[in-house]
Amino acid sequence: MQWLKKLLTPKKKQPVIKPGVPMSRIVMHWSAGSGKVSALEKKHYHYIIGSDGLVVEGNNEVAANIPPLKSGQYAAHTWKLNSNSIGVAISAMRGATERPFSWGTHPMSDLQVDALCRLVATLSAKHGVPITRETILTHAEVQPTLKVTQRAKWDITVLPGMKKPGNPVVVGDMLRNKIKTITHN
Ligand SMILES: [Zn+2]
Repeated sequence: MQWLKKLLTPKKKQPVIKPGVPMSRIVMHWSAGSGKVSALEKKHYHYIIGSDGLVVEGNNEVAANIPPLKSGQYAAHTWKLNSNSIGVAISAMRGATERPFSWGTHPMSDLQVDALCRLVATLSAKHGVPITRETILTHAEVQPTLKVTQRAKWDITVLPGMKKPGNPVVVGDMLRNKIKTITHN
């Protein structure tokens, strides 16, 4: 009954997201990179977005960050917060400085922010991570929200179109709102 099967198969299939291993959170970074995804970036993040907006997979699978973590065999992206954490990064902001603020030589683009939000929406569905301030957050929010001390991390406190970095949680909310508008049903 091949013809029947064909008839019942919708022409345009919704992309199916296969469930992955359950994870606790997703941390969003910029890498201080140039947009051309490097070996170092692949070592530290599970997914990296290049200047072309395409997602590049890192060396370590998401599941490598499920404890027990094996030295050098997981994505070390956030100080003291790598267990059950997915790390995603925009490759940009090389030479950027917080005060006085400078975008550096390779500013982050709207294309990259859009790609980041699409990626995180997919990972949220795939790994069962709810979109909340505690579970999908920027690196800069880790210290104020989760009370895990970081070393003056300010990624991602500024988005294209902003004149200078803003409050980490306010900027995080902007990203989460954007992620929420991307549905996967
Ligand atoms: Zn970071």
